[in-house]
Amino acid sequence: LIFKKTYSPLSSAEIIAKEKANMDDKRFQHCVRVSETSRKLSKLNNYDEDKAALAGFVHDYAKQVPVEEYVKVIKDQDFDPDLLNWNRAIWHGIVGTYFVERDLKIRDPEILMAIRRHTTGDVEMTTLDKIVFMADFIEPGRDFPGVDEARKITYANLDKGVGYQLAHTLSFLIEQRNKVYPRTLAAYNVWSTK
Ligand code: GDP
Ligand code: FE
Ligand code: FE
Ligand code: FE
Repeated sequence: LIFKKTYSPLSSAEIIAKEKANMDDKRFQHCVRVSETSRKLSKLNNYDEDKAALAGFVHDYAKQVPVEEYVKVIKDQDFDPDLLNWNRAIWHGIVGTYFVERDLKIRDPEILMAIRRHTTGDVEMTTLDKIVFMADFIEPGRDFPGVDEARKITYANLDKGVGYQLAHTLSFLIEQRNKVYPRTLAAYNVWSTK
């Protein structure tokens, strides 16, 4: 694992070390697989491979940051106070970029946007947003009913993959009687028909 292009004053090795220190091994291995899958998807969609591999690697950097720390950052850094009604599933993308910038010194707006959108998707998504969003869903460690179909669809057509994932997530949330974040629903309405 190595990131040749620099999007941070930190070296590739330093970023990897910080990432490892910020999460358990299971989450770290997921991030490695999302990085590799992002690379593969970027090849298929003519995107900068090294940039996608880095974005995929750091997408869950803040997944295990303590809840109290998130609450403090949301309040102190002027995030939308409505975020306080949600949880780490929603925070680790939208607010997670705060920690990525602070700790990993990554300031590239495209990478930060892809992290921001990786859980909920959004009505508008860049190629990098879609790559990270889909790599997270279909990386080889994922195992849920429909994952093979999701892989097939995504490798054939990235946009259709996005629609598949959003429909799948929405069904799952409703089945669990879980709250739907408005952006997840708005994204579904755009991408479900592509
Ligand atoms: P992970 O970080 O690799 O586990 O994957 P994600 O960042 O994609 O998703 C984290 C969790 O957020 C998953 O369990 C999703 O079901 C959940 N999630 C996605 N959208 C929503 C939403 O609109 N509302 C709620 N409550 N959870 C959501
Ligand atoms: Fe995530
Ligand atoms: Fe995701
Ligand atoms: Fe993830």
